[in-house]
Amino acid sequence: MSRDVKGYYGPYGGRYVPDVLNQVLDEVKDVYSKLKDDTEFLSQLDYYNRHYIGRPSPLYFAEKLTNEIGGAKIYLKREDLNHTGSHKINNTIGQVLLAQKLGKKRVIAETGAGQHGVATATACALFGMDCIIYMGEEDTKRQELNVFRMKLLGAEVVPVTHGNRTLKEAVDAAIEDLIENYDSTYYMLGSAVGPDPYPAMVNTFQSIIGREAKEQILEVENRLPDYLVACIGGGSNAIGLFSPFYDDTDVNMIGVEPAGKGLDTGMHAATLALGSPGILHGFKSYLLQDDNGNPMPVYSISAGLDYPGVGPEHSFFKDTGRASYVTITDEEALDAFFALSHIEGIIPALESAHAVAHAIKLAKDLPKDDLIIVNLSGRGDKDVRQVLDLMQNMNNHPNS
Ligand SMILES: *Cc1c(COP(=O)(O)O)cnc(C)c1O
Repeated sequence: MSRDVKGYYGPYGGRYVPDVLNQVLDEVKDVYSKLKDDTEFLSQLDYYNRHYIGRPSPLYFAEKLTNEIGGAKIYLKREDLNHTGSHKINNTIGQVLLAQKLGKKRVIAETGAGQHGVATATACALFGMDCIIYMGEEDTKRQELNVFRMKLLGAEVVPVTHGNRTLKEAVDAAIEDLIENYDSTYYMLGSAVGPDPYPAMVNTFQSIIGREAKEQILEVENRLPDYLVACIGGGSNAIGLFSPFYDDTDVNMIGVEPAGKGLDTGMHAATLALGSPGILHGFKSYLLQDDNGNPMPVYSISAGLDYPGVGPEHSFFKDTGRASYVTITDEEALDAFFALSHIEGIIPALESAHAVAHAIKLAKDLPKDDLIIVNLSGRGDKDVRQVLDLMQNMNNHPNS
């Protein structure tokens, strides 16, 4: 729809990579172009979606939350109920199937918080692929449990020990590996980012979310929703929900970025709100960058949202006005984390809590028959330790 043959969404996207990688990406693009309409591939994907991931995920009417707020009806698309606890598995199962068709036996990925690493290791275990996960050494310490999970799943986790020893260095290490081993190796990207064809491919595998949601809302409400709300890290769960509604122009699409400790503190990851167009990791998009075009340090309470770039399709949606983008602070996200837990009995991922927080704000001022669908991208089990520590620190604070 909005993408041209070279993978541009308006001025965004494309491919800014060294020559060797161009070849590799052409090969991936070739197979992807064939498979995305191939009935056998799609029925194989459908099989794993149903029987392994547990799709379709429910569209749940959050009636208690709705009544408490007293405005528009809030529906939750329950990606938190997927195997491994988030939407990320939709993408890794799709890409690993594609890697198999490419004849690759070895999959590499980079991970920051570890969620994409775990989803990749899971898919590789299922399909008997060798799996190597690059992770900054600093992140391996912060995310000890996810490192152990990946190892349980049979992956090799390689700590990257140079530079700041975080995500950026892990990306560099994975790209070096790919350049050296592209004959045998497939690079699995975790969000709707990267050079062409990755944003399109991730869109294809995640848009199952929006296709199901559309069918489900038509069945219960007999009409399309007025609003879609989803959090934005790289933008994959949001694009997955939004895409199938692109041509339904009465449906408002809202992406929620992390304002962290506040937009004026420098401690946030609000790329579309405060960034400007630039190039990072092989594609053009909005970017939080300094005067020299280097990515700025980013921060969010949720590790899955702190990326200085954003998927190119969202940059295009922002400029054309097809979607709007708002921000939610750490504090607002935490409030929503607690609210959804005790009102609905659903502990959301801190990432998803950003979307819930905005939906709560939005619903208040809307008529009671308006419909909001919130993408509940993941479950909060992974975050309870962090939230407990935060609360204990607050309670120990001399001023509290
Ligand atoms: C990784 C993650 C995100 C952010 O990634 P997107 O590509 O923007 O979807 C959001 N929610 C959860 C639960 C995640 O694990």
